[in-house]
Amino acid sequence: MNVSEYQSTRNRNINITCTEAILQGISKEGGLFVPKALPKMDFTLENILEFDYQTLAYRVMRLFFDDFKVEDLKECINKAYDEKFDTSVIAPLKTILSAHFLELFHGPTLAFKDMALSILPYLMTTSKTYQQEDKEIVILTATSGDTGKAALEGFANVAGTRIIVFFPEDGVSDVQKRQMTTQKGDNTFVVGIKGNFDDAQTGVKQIFADAELEKELAQKGYVFSSANSINIGRLVPQVVYYFYAYGQLVKEGSIKVGERMNVVVPTGNFGNILAAYYAKEMGLPIHKFICASNKNKVLTDFFEKGIYDRRRDFHITNSPSMDILISSNLERFLYHMSNENAELVNELMGALKDQGVYEIPEDMKQNMGLFAAGYADDEVTAKTIRKVYDEENYLMDTHTAVAYAVYEDYKNRTQDMTPTVIASTASPYKFTGSVMGAIDNQYKAQDDFILLKEMEKLLNEKMPSTIRDLETMEIKHKTICEVDEMKQVVRAFLG
Ligand SMILES: *Cc1c(COP(=O)(O)O)cnc(C)c1O
Repeated sequence: MNVSEYQSTRNRNINITCTEAILQGISKEGGLFVPKALPKMDFTLENILEFDYQTLAYRVMRLFFDDFKVEDLKECINKAYDEKFDTSVIAPLKTILSAHFLELFHGPTLAFKDMALSILPYLMTTSKTYQQEDKEIVILTATSGDTGKAALEGFANVAGTRIIVFFPEDGVSDVQKRQMTTQKGDNTFVVGIKGNFDDAQTGVKQIFADAELEKELAQKGYVFSSANSINIGRLVPQVVYYFYAYGQLVKEGSIKVGERMNVVVPTGNFGNILAAYYAKEMGLPIHKFICASNKNKVLTDFFEKGIYDRRRDFHITNSPSMDILISSNLERFLYHMSNENAELVNELMGALKDQGVYEIPEDMKQNMGLFAAGYADDEVTAKTIRKVYDEENYLMDTHTAVAYAVYEDYKNRTQDMTPTVIASTASPYKFTGSVMGAIDNQYKAQDDFILLKEMEKLLNEKMPSTIRDLETMEIKHKTICEVDEMKQVVRAFLG
């Protein structure tokens, strides 16, 4: 077998296989695993037109995961992308107002996180078998709302795994919270923290880095891993749908084979947009990457000035899954952009940790012309939802609306008419309060669960069944803790 190697963004001397990287989640010294060399596509753009989602997923993923046996990887894919999705095409492309919305929310939890988290548990248990790891895997996850539920759904009742999710108690929508706190499965544990997403993410990273705790838990038969997009097993499945979008654009006649497309991605942890960048490096013709942020616009500023500065107020917005000031996957991007300069990445990440700010070198700034960036605040986001609903009867969620607003702005500024795919990352049912409030004042400040039914009426369709029962389901998880209690909570759960 030709086994591709993974190294750490902070230490190039680490060389491990993909199954080790998936199991570990994050490297010991804090770096993120990246493939030593990004693979090139070994199929043609024409081929994409013939592939269904599962076949394409196999053709893309096998290039990254080449120590998986063919039949094992195929099995992972077939178990992941099945009737859990409410459409057999898995990720449909809808053309509205001359933009192309790639709807990534047709999975069980109604956000794009399902695209990767429905397969990650299978990738992980297969890796566990290959690595002859007999300890129970404990998935530790920080969530801004969507990862948590998608990971819970993926890992619930998976033998040999447990999952602990930390979410900001006051930083998620009502529907998101209820989705998590009603989670079934004896191996699941959900905790609200009195802090924001960055606190949750930093707390989880600290637990990963705690050698003493690791030893203690190893004796009890546990080993930690991550379901956040710091895990390479999360990122690779997301590369697939950019190829898929391209195929659909060609099929509907919006581009000819070989022509380029733009992508706009509403961004928080920089995972989804990095997956698009990987697709381009593999050979997919992408012209521009447009990085869309909400009022927490640390990335917009970064792409403008080359300075990453998290020393600013944290805003709770109507697109809470992007309320993030420490964007983890940017580290991988810096690594690639600096020609794999792990020393530099170490330096920049050290500065971010100690001073809260870093500036990238001049030559790296020159490299970043592929990226454009912009942001939309809550008001613009709401107006955009309303405008597109009024004109086209198409109801976007708040995150998708941020992306669309930033795209319109980009197009006006640049006159770039390249056909453009917008990553549509969540169903409007997930952010009912904000979405309904945006289209009509009469819905403002109403209960989310009443608004769900209003939305259903408005759209003249049945709401997804996974949402319908939420209101009456038993709340199983009630733990709330302080940020500095996260470690104790983990210990307690694991006995
Ligand atoms: C997670 C999430 C995002 C941000 O994705 P990243 O990969 O963290 O950049 C955007 N929209 C929604 C709905 C999400 O759940």
